[in-house]
Amino acid sequence: MDRFELRASALTRRDFIKIAGATAALLGLSRALTPKMVKALENTAGKPAVIWLEGQDCAGCVESFLNSLEPPATTLLLDAISLRYCETAMAGSGYKAEEILDQTVAEGGYLLVIEGAIPLAEDGLFCTVGGKPFKDIVRDCAKNAAAIICVGACSSFGGIPRSGPTDAVGYLYRGTKLHHFYDDVGPKPVINLPTCPLHGERLVAVIVHYLTFGTIPELDRFQRPKAFYGYNQHENCERRAHFEAGEYVTDFGNPAQYGWCLYLKGCKGPWANQDCWKRRWNQRTNYCIRAGIPCVACSNPEFYESVSPMYKRQFDTELPGIGRVDLDKVMAVVGGAVAAGVGLDMAVSRATGRWKTAKGEKPPDRDGNEG
Ligand code: SF4
Repeated sequence: MDRFELRASALTRRDFIKIAGATAALLGLSRALTPKMVKALENTAGKPAVIWLEGQDCAGCVESFLNSLEPPATTLLLDAISLRYCETAMAGSGYKAEEILDQTVAEGGYLLVIEGAIPLAEDGLFCTVGGKPFKDIVRDCAKNAAAIICVGACSSFGGIPRSGPTDAVGYLYRGTKLHHFYDDVGPKPVINLPTCPLHGERLVAVIVHYLTFGTIPELDRFQRPKAFYGYNQHENCERRAHFEAGEYVTDFGNPAQYGWCLYLKGCKGPWANQDCWKRRWNQRTNYCIRAGIPCVACSNPEFYESVSPMYKRQFDTELPGIGRVDLDKVMAVVGGAVAAGVGLDMAVSRATGRWKTAKGEKPPDRDGNEG
């Protein structure tokens, strides 16, 4: 065996139609494109090659992806794609595995999936594989890649490792700023699929789009597909009515507060851009807020430092166009201080774009985009 061709049971045409239909829906594409997608999937069995690298990570993204059943991400990956290298999923190891990696890189034209942050401090010695700094492995693999897909918050923006001493960055970004470390690799498509961990459906959709059209879906300014990250959590939250009514969870043990807004428990939904509210996780069973966990905005470049402490009440916070807001006033809302409640609603409304200036313009959002 000269390469890892991990295969599951063969996909049927029915499977291809199911995947193509789901992908069209995910990306907001016309159903009329489904036959084209089916054809692309049928014609690409065994290719293109995929290299999946893991750096400063917890392997949560690859596990999240491999556990996806709807659409059947694993079957797609193993049957329609040639997975050449993936430390968590491949059977091989050692020199043979590295040989396959080198061979695939030499062939070129593969999809490079990066999971985990890339530490740059101390010349990259905080993360090495086979004695080689991960930052150099990424560069070597990126050069001949057709496109680069950063899965999870860490490889997109640095994620949780960015709060440590290793100068952990994503492939393009150190938080919200471009770091230009890989400029010498040259221009090529880079897609960021943040959240912690990755949602498998988003990766499947990007791969199917690439197989079908040879291009990547439309991206926002942080290289995130607009189809998945063009929504605001707070605007679409099922607890929103409680937010508007001033009903905030202050005691998780109080049954009377079941389903109330989690803002005072640290929810960052007003700043979070993603579609988790409709995507949901674990075969669309549930997601953080519906399960009673405050949103931590893990899809945003600022995750994780700027959203800490994640599950504790923030004493004050910076709101775009407003400045620092004293959240003691928020607590006063719960106590019935109406004037403070008006202030909070105005502040959050402004942060989410519902607020308008006296001239009727929207203020800049958290990323500085003009309204
Ligand atoms: Fe939902 Fe959080 Fe907004 Fe409350 S603050 S409505 S829980 S997103």
